[in-house]
Amino acid sequence: MKIADGSVVELEYTLRDDDGDVLDSSEGEETLHYLHGHGQIVPGLEKALEGRVAGDNVVVVVPPEEGYGPRFEDRVVTVARERLPADEEPEEGMVLEGNGPGGESLLLRVVAVSAEGVTLDANHPLAGANLHFDVTVRAVREATEEELQHGHAHGPDGHGHDHDHDDHDHEH
Ligand code: ZN
Repeated sequence: MKIADGSVVELEYTLRDDDGDVLDSSEGEETLHYLHGHGQIVPGLEKALEGRVAGDNVVVVVPPEEGYGPRFEDRVVTVARERLPADEEPEEGMVLEGNGPGGESLLLRVVAVSAEGVTLDANHPLAGANLHFDVTVRAVREATEEELQHGHAHGPDGHGHDHDHDDHDHEH
């Protein structure tokens, strides 16, 4: 069965940066299940997997435009400590939830804490990066009705992905 829109695909994957350092990998972890054609993975990888079959190894370099987008320096801002919630002491590497200009929720990484304030970066951590993927297709199957309704894969056998919740009516 070839990977097409509506396929649930199981992947082993390793993601590296331009220096060859591993950013993320399924090695020693659970494999990734995703619903093809629903934007669950970055567009460049989704495109490279189209038409592939179980057993295929796909090595692809995805540029930022087809990955997590470009990096915008104006998404890095320094704000006064008082503007942040008082209950948590900001530390480098911490991720805070904030709101964008349109009220949308944003994840803000704390990149520096100094006397002037706290520097926050709203860029995706992989924005501007070339993504070096090495993936192996483990399995391809058709999505269930429920998966198509939810717009994502539910694991190897089509059941819920979150074992702590009722498989049949979890919300997203
Ligand atoms: Zn679901």
